[in-house]
Amino acid sequence: MKKIPQVMSALGAAVATALVAMAADAAVLPTTQTDSSWYQDGAAAVAAKVAQARNTGTAKNIIFFVGDGMGVSTLTAARIYQGQQAGNSGEENRLSFETFPYSALSKTYSVNQQTPDSAPTMTAMITGVKTEDGMLSVSADSIRGNCLSSQGNELKTALELAEDRGKSTGIVSTARITHATPAATYAHTPERDWEADSNLTAEAVANGCHDIAYQLVMDAPGDGLEVALGGGRSYFLPNTVTDGEGAKGRRKDGNDLTAKWSEQFTNAAYVWNQAQFDAIDVTKTDHLLGLFEASHMQYEADRADDTAGEPSLAEMTSKAIDMLAKNDKGYFLMVEGGRIDHAHHAGNAARALADTVALSDAVKAALGKVDLEDTLIIVSADHSHTFTIAGYPARGNPILGLVHEPNDEAIAVNAATADDGLPYTTLGYANGPGAKQGARSDLSGIDTTDVDFLQQAQVPMGSETHAAEDVAIYATGPGAYLFQGNVEQNVIFHVMNQAGALGGSKY
Ligand SMILES: [Zn+2]
Repeated sequence: MKKIPQVMSALGAAVATALVAMAADAAVLPTTQTDSSWYQDGAAAVAAKVAQARNTGTAKNIIFFVGDGMGVSTLTAARIYQGQQAGNSGEENRLSFETFPYSALSKTYSVNQQTPDSAPTMTAMITGVKTEDGMLSVSADSIRGNCLSSQGNELKTALELAEDRGKSTGIVSTARITHATPAATYAHTPERDWEADSNLTAEAVANGCHDIAYQLVMDAPGDGLEVALGGGRSYFLPNTVTDGEGAKGRRKDGNDLTAKWSEQFTNAAYVWNQAQFDAIDVTKTDHLLGLFEASHMQYEADRADDTAGEPSLAEMTSKAIDMLAKNDKGYFLMVEGGRIDHAHHAGNAARALADTVALSDAVKAALGKVDLEDTLIIVSADHSHTFTIAGYPARGNPILGLVHEPNDEAIAVNAATADDGLPYTTLGYANGPGAKQGARSDLSGIDTTDVDFLQQAQVPMGSETHAAEDVAIYATGPGAYLFQGNVEQNVIFHVMNQAGALGGSKY
């Protein structure tokens, strides 16, 4: 097992020597080139690649981050946004995971749609099998919304395989933990909208299908998930109960699943606000359920305004790792930046970018807690959005601002104008609520950097849609090198299965 990295590093040393020899011939290049910081930084990046050894060991732990709706244009805009928040021009910045050594592109189409939703995409990533839109961890032999058709078509997930191997498991999301992305890790259902029993059809009830919240607590794999943190409280509470932030429960079966959690599992705790979350003693808690909002958690941009207080995605990720790392056999953790998607649907780039930065911060928090010798970290997205970064803005032009082109070494004072004589923003959407029927509205004098500003769009739609182009995969740790080139989205499961020796097949 240890031999291959040594071979690789010996090979690396040989290539490095060759590069040094090449550098001695660099006189063919003018000093204006070789003295350039661009040149030197680029050469250093290649030297680092040459020196890099593949980690072919087994991943004891796997942390899988999913930015819901985090397409490549979102990554570019968020990196500029984060860099500009720090007072820099922004373009040179890198999100925490953009420094990972390996990456690939992921094809996101589902069995029946060119542009997918989060249900088949997460199913692909977590089970290794593509399915149809709206369905969670059941195969495409099922019919959406038909319980009977899904029976016998359940697909085993990476999280369930980890439970089978005695590992600890966890899910963290800023969306409802019963929403498509987190739900696909532990639930099997032909309808992503069956989040509480009150959402089930008569056919589903008659044929014994359970709602998603019920499945998380009552049909849990192995000895149950050790950590489940996010939103979606109302799906766990009876409709006779009003929660601590004034919202009504949605369950009509009378089950209080937050109470069942504590009955069902040993050393279990349920928390629903920041103070309770902060007070959790990780050494004394083995199963932690945290539901911080009746539906989705707040956007990162609005989190400080929450009534009862909510932990950040980074805080939830840190606490989850502390809980899961108690297990000598290792763990599987899925972390979703769930609201990037929702802000994009609203045509609202500012909140989408702030939530992308929050995901980057969560990855950074994880990197501070794990040993990359035995922990595989993957960051990807389920699908993209129709989000664009366009025009010819000058370097350092505010990413949420109007396009100002460069004027010699400065940013032009006046905004550039389009053929209709009106200014335009760098960020836009192909469709969505920011579209106007008829002439574009004049953005002169409008604060386009305001958190509530909706970018202009071409096609008017109440909700901006997903997009079909590839998304990125970034990885580091054992097995990360298996991500190369352009892959089908379901390959992600197979890398986790192989690198983590999850036993899901005859590898
Ligand atoms: Zn969406």
